[in-house]
Amino acid sequence: MKHRPDIDEQAYWLILSQDKLVQSKGQACLIKQSWSELSFISAYADDVVKVGEYRQSNCYMVDLGQETPEHDDLELVSLRAALMSEQQDAFNILARAWQVALFLRTHKYCGQCGSQMEAVNWELAMHCHRCQHRCYPRISPCIIVAIRKGQQILLAQGAHHKGGMYSTLAGFVESGESLEQAVHREVMEEVGIKVKNLRYFSSQPWPFPHSLMVGFLAEWDEGDIQVDGKEILAADWFDFNNLPLIPPSFSIAGQLIQTTINAPDQSF
Ligand SMILES: [Zn+2]
Repeated sequence: MKHRPDIDEQAYWLILSQDKLVQSKGQACLIKQSWSELSFISAYADDVVKVGEYRQSNCYMVDLGQETPEHDDLELVSLRAALMSEQQDAFNILARAWQVALFLRTHKYCGQCGSQMEAVNWELAMHCHRCQHRCYPRISPCIIVAIRKGQQILLAQGAHHKGGMYSTLAGFVESGESLEQAVHREVMEEVGIKVKNLRYFSSQPWPFPHSLMVGFLAEWDEGDIQVDGKEILAADWFDFNNLPLIPPSFSIAGQLIQTTINAPDQSF
């Protein structure tokens, strides 16, 4: 897993510092270059991790942890801002790099016996040689569902949504629960209605911090909206031609909303 860089290889480098990405001022965060051009991280040669490929080239991640590089030509960009501004195809590699960094940061010590853990060299895992406990990156499944009623869609303002944005309902899957059960439970808990005709839509890794969003389309079955007031501050049925501020189309929430609006009423 750890990778000693070849000094001349042209590759994509993702450099993380705290919860930000390090990039050259005014440039994209994914630039193809060689290790020899990245002099400000030369001390981290032992910490290079290959996180995948991007546009047919290797993509490496270097996590500076709490260190911040001091260099006039560099700036720190939040992960959210980078995900919004980069090309669509960069989303997955950025999300993966962040989740790998977070995994390595939070698994230095064994959760079972407290010993120091070591990275496994052939898979992305941390291993404890004292008690043989092995850890893999955590992935938390989270359902997200667009609910349709005739020519209307249910959208809600979550407690964590900034700027008055309305979105589809979402929530974490609990232990021992199927994805479908999670949809029915979350919808009932958050807005007090029943849904039917669940259809799987698609999924999207979401690195805040390690969710896998599993998208569903559904139809209203019965009940009136009653918001829980904790996770959901407001919710309503919106006419397709009169929507509030909604999430961007690169997010699965935005895609679910668009698909619901574009689907013919009967075939849904
Ligand atoms: Zn252990």
